[in-house]
Amino acid sequence: MEIITQVKEMQKRVEVYRNAGKSVGFVPTMGALHEGHFSLMRQARKDNDLVIISIFVNPLQFGPGEDYECYPKDLDRDRELAEEVGVDIIFAPPPKEMYPQTSSTFVEVERLSEGICGRDRPGHFRGVATVVTKLFNITKPHRVYFGQKDYQQALIIKRMIEDLNFDMEFVLMPIIREEDGLAMSSRNTYLNQREREQALILYRSLKKAEELLDGGERRSEVILEEIREMISKEDIAQIDYIGLYHPETLAEIETVEQEALIALAVRIGKTRLIDNLLWRKKSG
Ligand code: AMP
Repeated sequence: MEIITQVKEMQKRVEVYRNAGKSVGFVPTMGALHEGHFSLMRQARKDNDLVIISIFVNPLQFGPGEDYECYPKDLDRDRELAEEVGVDIIFAPPPKEMYPQTSSTFVEVERLSEGICGRDRPGHFRGVATVVTKLFNITKPHRVYFGQKDYQQALIIKRMIEDLNFDMEFVLMPIIREEDGLAMSSRNTYLNQREREQALILYRSLKKAEELLDGGERRSEVILEEIREMISKEDIAQIDYIGLYHPETLAEIETVEQEALIALAVRIGKTRLIDNLLWRKKSG
């Protein structure tokens, strides 16, 4: 496995594989790798001749006061773990290599970027769509892998691939959780013991919503009220948003029919965590 840090070198290298008829799978990450990332890499390993991952903490997608400066970084550890999973190339550019000058060009996926996390983090998805476009042009993949953990992001990238005719297959992978249900995230490392315990409220809320829906409740407001009350009992948990959304348009749903995305962002102390669950009416 090798680490490439320069854009031109990455482009040249991948071109050799593509010209030899090899398929290329790509997993973009911000590093601090965990099982959630590895599940994407393993799938990419199964599907492709060459597996590239990127490790890049993208300044463009962080807002003022967010955790860009202190986002966890450990390239040596990530390198060892990625190698174990069978990754061929890590593309890990320094910020100056990705943004040598002040950018004038951005990619904006309208509507899908506006609600949910987009409302709390203005400019975030513009930063994501822009860096992912750049990474696609640098790694030239046939298949790209994203996690449902970041559902809105995945939907936005899928839409961007369609709208801009990127010639690649989009693969969505399920959420990987700790044994107690907490969705794996690089940001979980920020949590102290008390916060880690209270962080379980995210998954418990989603399961509660699922239980209510399975039991026949269809009014979003009734479901949300119950969950808000559950979360309010955790003294260091604060809701950024919680809602039931149409899984394709992300429009808020008042009355659930066949399916719904239940999504939430909760601050546990200073750490903002997100999670979601896709509910579908069981047939029969
Ligand atoms: P990040 O490093 O947080 O930008 O994540 C890189 C990719 O890994 C994104 O497509 C995420 O959705 C995905 N990912 C992160 N956490 C998980 C998880 N717990 N389960 C599945 N995929 C995940």
